[in-house]
Amino acid sequence: KPVILWLRRDLRLADQAAVLAAAEAGPVIPVYVLDDETPRHRRMGGASRWWLHHSLASLDTALRAKGSRLILRQGVCADVLTDIARETGVTQVHALHHYEPWWRNAEKSLAKALDLHLHHGNYLVPPGSIRSGSDQPYKVYTPFMKALWPHMPPPKPLPAPDAIAAPDAWPQSDTLADWKLLPTKPDWAKAFVEEWTPGEDGVAERVAAFLPRAKGYAEARNLPSEEGSSRLSAHLHFGEISVATVWHAVSAAPGDHAVFLKELVWRDYAQNIILAFPDYGKSNGKAQFDAMPWRSGKAAERDIAAWKQGRTGYPIVDAGMRQLWATGWMHNRVRMIAASFLVKHLLIDWRVGEQWFWDTLVDADYGNNPVNWQWVMGSGVDANMFVRIMAPLSQSPKFDAGDYIRQWVPELAHIRGEAVHDPDDYGCRPDAYPAKIIGHRDARERALAAFAQVKA
Ligand code: FAD
Repeated sequence: KPVILWLRRDLRLADQAAVLAAAEAGPVIPVYVLDDETPRHRRMGGASRWWLHHSLASLDTALRAKGSRLILRQGVCADVLTDIARETGVTQVHALHHYEPWWRNAEKSLAKALDLHLHHGNYLVPPGSIRSGSDQPYKVYTPFMKALWPHMPPPKPLPAPDAIAAPDAWPQSDTLADWKLLPTKPDWAKAFVEEWTPGEDGVAERVAAFLPRAKGYAEARNLPSEEGSSRLSAHLHFGEISVATVWHAVSAAPGDHAVFLKELVWRDYAQNIILAFPDYGKSNGKAQFDAMPWRSGKAAERDIAAWKQGRTGYPIVDAGMRQLWATGWMHNRVRMIAASFLVKHLLIDWRVGEQWFWDTLVDADYGNNPVNWQWVMGSGVDANMFVRIMAPLSQSPKFDAGDYIRQWVPELAHIRGEAVHDPDDYGCRPDAYPAKIIGHRDARERALAAFAQVKA
């Protein structure tokens, strides 16, 4: 009797516990459901949909090489899977655990209708299993990391099954083209194609390219002008590689990789936070921030648009926002600077920025995005403070972002030396490049005054 393999953000065949369990249980019907209803306003954003299209195409090719194929359906996932089960006489479903609140709800309703087997495998340790001495979820990263560390390394990755048996008859499937996941007019994803190769083969190439650079990661990762980080985030988000595979591959490369491995732990930490605080994408971790006097109205809207378009007059912020729009990704150091600029310099609610990132990042993730936004903001359950206000104009030379700015802000491409970090100050701002939308000192004072109201 066939079983259903329900795929979500786990689009791989290697080291995928649900794939292995399904392949052992009988002929397999691998299903991906495009579900825009269950996640409600958390439906996948535009950049993620571009990625999904290519990732599913790659997975279907890999499945066909094993004698199987991917069934595509659209609708409310619990209903669609129950329908397929009825059509095919299947009762058993295998899937990996996911921790977004809408997926957990969907799992609950599906488990009432079918024999649902959930497996672990997208995180270093099962989220929820690392708890403090008083049996509470950890709120702060460092104690979480220290508690997780003794459980490392994660189990050795398992290979993909040699073959995946097909059922006697396949249920009906949509085609990828039916889903219209790719942009048409305007095609904002032109540069994505050069930047990314979604799927298991693409991520294998990324890992191979990173390994020789991994020993320099601790320093180079902070320099936006260099190719210092792994660029694995979207592959990890869509589960095209298991984090255990990344851990073992990098650990085996020459050098000390603690800094990199601890970044992987941030990803686990974020899932633990959304498991403990499912509303983290919309509610402040510290309730006092509910009283924050966010700006709104015409001037605020104009500033939000300038931020999104990379026209704030702060070159490092603008370079980051333009990199994001062009490629669906932004360097981590610049994400921190650009996010801080929105919430502190412009006094705009972090949820506005988080939503924009949700729509434009190829790695948009319900754990990592809100957790990092709330961390930058200081509104999270962790310990970061609002009063630490990043100064973009000093961050930019400190992390040597000159070439990065020249690459992403063509109006400034001709400016040599330090002036590129703040052409206004050097008196060489070209007319085509906007003046600063607010001065750093004024912004800082306004942010601190707003925060004083929150505390009062
Ligand atoms: P590397 O430096 O090579 O790190 C390796 C992996 O570790 C990453 O692929 C990622 O899976 C994980 N990782 C690294 N840093 C973090 C972090 N701070 N938090 C959680 N995991 C981390 N990352 C996302 O994957 N999705 C998001 O939606 C996201 N939103 C962010 C929003 C803001 C405001 C900020 C400041 C950071 C955000 N990050 C997000 C974290 C980080 O910027 C990206 O994971 C990283 O830039 C991806 O590039 P990389 O793969 O080259 O990272």
